[in-house]
Amino acid sequence: MVTFLGNSSDSIDADVIVVGLGAMGSQTLWRLAERGVDAIGIEQFTPGHDRGASHGESRIIRSAYAEGASYVPLVKEAWQLWRELEEVSGAHLLEQTGALMVGPADSPVIAGPLASARAWDLKYQLLETAELREAFPQYVPADGLMGFYEEDAGYLRPEASVTAAVEAARVRGAEVLRESGVTAILPDPVRPRVRLGDRELTARHVVVAAGGWLPGLLPATARLMHVERRVMGWFRVADPAAFEARRFPVFVHSDASGDHNLYGFPTLDGETVKVGLHTWPGIDEVIDPADGHRPPDQADAQRFAEAVDRTFVGVDPQPVRMESCMYSLTPDRHFLVGPRADLPGLTLLAGFSGHGFKFATVIGEIAAQFAVTGKSALPVEKFDPHRFDRR
Ligand SMILES: Cc1cc2nc3c(=O)[nH]c(=O)nc-3n(C[C@H](O)[C@H](O)[C@H](O)COP(=O)(O)OP(=O)(O)OC[C@H]3O[C@@H](n4cnc5c(N)ncnc54)[C@H](O)[C@@H]3O)c2cc1C
Repeated sequence: MVTFLGNSSDSIDADVIVVGLGAMGSQTLWRLAERGVDAIGIEQFTPGHDRGASHGESRIIRSAYAEGASYVPLVKEAWQLWRELEEVSGAHLLEQTGALMVGPADSPVIAGPLASARAWDLKYQLLETAELREAFPQYVPADGLMGFYEEDAGYLRPEASVTAAVEAARVRGAEVLRESGVTAILPDPVRPRVRLGDRELTARHVVVAAGGWLPGLLPATARLMHVERRVMGWFRVADPAAFEARRFPVFVHSDASGDHNLYGFPTLDGETVKVGLHTWPGIDEVIDPADGHRPPDQADAQRFAEAVDRTFVGVDPQPVRMESCMYSLTPDRHFLVGPRADLPGLTLLAGFSGHGFKFATVIGEIAAQFAVTGKSALPVEKFDPHRFDRR
């Protein structure tokens, strides 16, 4: 059992309350419970649901990080914790397939991972245009494209990851409140409180992992992020064997500017591949999570048809199904992780900007460290929620 210094356990409902049990909150609850911390996790829907940002069958995990070399130690730690969660839960969550980044030499998807791989001495392989064409005939052989391949990459199963973490936490003593919407969070340095309608729960610390709903709960955070809709599509392949993981690893494909950036997965069902548009003209529709995801429509299907047609050989450009999801984007596309002086007693986990899932285990560990000790031993300076105050 962890001892919290400084205040007695009189009049508290738990040492730590976690608000939101999506990717980040579920892992936080597990890491707290692993330490023996008395914790309550609260989710407005049922964990593993499809109304937030953590659904849709698959999420990429890669190590040579395009978004910055400083993420590499975090992804290494995350990877180990994913394996640990698999072990304690018995669930199969992570599939190592390797990853192929495709783009011009000066595109963010080639230059970014190359810089990370060089900084951390990671194993990789660069493929010139002719080599790429020969090894991966599933891509349209456009001139000037090259490939960056790394073995230490693959995909995670998001819904199963959330439910496995919640269950692992529950088995270790955490309390889980499902279908329970938090209506207010009241910051306080000693006794922060969480309101559920007319009921109030008190803790020593509150971790707020409410995803896109954060600004609605804590209006002071509204400047730190905004929420955009994103759509995933599934497409039938002519030759499923050519799109199995050993021949068609997870991928990111970009133009030089990064304005046309799509990603995807090998076939998981032996019939279709899943593709998502990370950046693409016309997709940046700002939404309010309280209204829910706007369902996919004909404009989404048309955009996908264009993207798939110009990128792949042997993939039917008409989606067989589509699903909406949401990105919580910060101005610099780096995460918001840690406390804020104007929100005492809270740790914020938000703004994962469309690339957070792979880190969920290590973010949960970092949040548990903040909740218990007020600081983290892992490198999180880059994610300081105060960093936009200076601008
Ligand atoms: C289409 C798409 C593709 C992506 N692909 C990748 C990828 O390949 N690799 C990768 O690493 N990342 C990827 N990401 C990003 C990653 O999925 C997200 O960063 C991550 O899921 C965010 O998790 P979260 O816990 O912050 O948010 P969520 O999973 O949305 O969790 C927030 C939770 O809080 C709950 N909640 C909110 N308000 C309340 C309240 N008042 N009371 C109680 N509960 C509340 C919500 O119901 C929800 O369950 C992708 C995201 C999308 C949308």
